[in-house]
Amino acid sequence: MPKATETTLEINLNALSYNFGYISSKLHKGIKLMAVVKASAYGSDSVKVAKKLEALGVDYFAVAYASEGETLRNNNLETPILVLHPQTVNFDKIVQHCLEPSIYSPLMLDRFIAFAESENLKNYPIHIKINTGMNRIGFSVNDVNYCIKKLSKTNTVTVKSIFSHLAASEDMENRVFAEKQISDFKTASEYLINNLSYTPLRHTLNTSGILNFPEAQFDMVRSGIGLYGFGNCEEENKNLRPIATLKTIISQIHTIKKGESVGYNFGFIAEKEMKSATLPLGHADGINRAYGKGNGFVTIHGKKAPMIGNICMDMLMVDITNIPCEEGDEVIVFGEKNATAEEFASSIHSISYEIITAISPRVKRIFVD
Ligand SMILES: *Cc1c(COP(=O)(O)O)cnc(C)c1O
Repeated sequence: MPKATETTLEINLNALSYNFGYISSKLHKGIKLMAVVKASAYGSDSVKVAKKLEALGVDYFAVAYASEGETLRNNNLETPILVLHPQTVNFDKIVQHCLEPSIYSPLMLDRFIAFAESENLKNYPIHIKINTGMNRIGFSVNDVNYCIKKLSKTNTVTVKSIFSHLAASEDMENRVFAEKQISDFKTASEYLINNLSYTPLRHTLNTSGILNFPEAQFDMVRSGIGLYGFGNCEEENKNLRPIATLKTIISQIHTIKKGESVGYNFGFIAEKEMKSATLPLGHADGINRAYGKGNGFVTIHGKKAPMIGNICMDMLMVDITNIPCEEGDEVIVFGEKNATAEEFASSIHSISYEIITAISPRVKRIFVD
């Protein structure tokens, strides 16, 4: 890659292929892979990423909201798309774009069936979400009977899949919790299937679930973070390649005298003469204020430069006293090896998921393939 000349999020589609291959290698024969491309494919670009995954033969996509699925359809993606968190107000959009809603409560089931009746739909694909302990969205196990009753009285919808979500699939110290969720899911989904005249797919594993609970793949698995290069533990991170690298440049270098301040509200006071570099990157680009005051760091010519003072909206300043560098030089905020988004985020007790999805649309995306 040529050196950055402005703030850029570089998306490596070869790394995406690599991660797709690694995750696929963990699957038993015949298990389908659903790629989770919500939140602009975890902060990258949902269309570019989905096109690549479709070419690689992915079986399903998942998005959080209907509008995200609409974007994929408007860009000619044809793979089935599960909408994880549909809202009543978007049923029109869902059907118009052949999106498949997750139905997670008696109220949603009633409303979707009523909508399907009013539109004269037949066998419209829906997915039944069961709550097994995450307590976020999903039918309680006790509501499964309600589902069965309601479904037996209509031919407007077909259950394409039954699924659940693990609350702590990366937490090996609490394995029993996930194991209980898996067994409750198995029981509830079997009961539902026994009361249908056909057999929907079943799935409950996210990326760490795929890595830690190979016995629970059922018919399909859902991978998000793994495809983007993180495995939620050091060992697995080594097997994956982060697809996103956030780069910027040095706009200006200052020599700061002892006692002088840097940035807003005297957020940094020099204890001795030092050098600062100003970067064209700020909280409006997704760099939280918490990274300021020495917490976060960037990498310049392989050396770590801590962020000093308060993060501004469009800029931040770093300490480069011990780093030979010049105005215009490239700066790595996070990327592959030694400066991953996971390490970057850990400086403010955050996680890879949060920082990669936070990079705002203002930051230019470029693609390597
Ligand atoms: C976001 C999400 C996933 C993806 O999880 P990863 O940890 O990124 O693999 C899977 N399932 C559901 C229900 C989700 O909301």
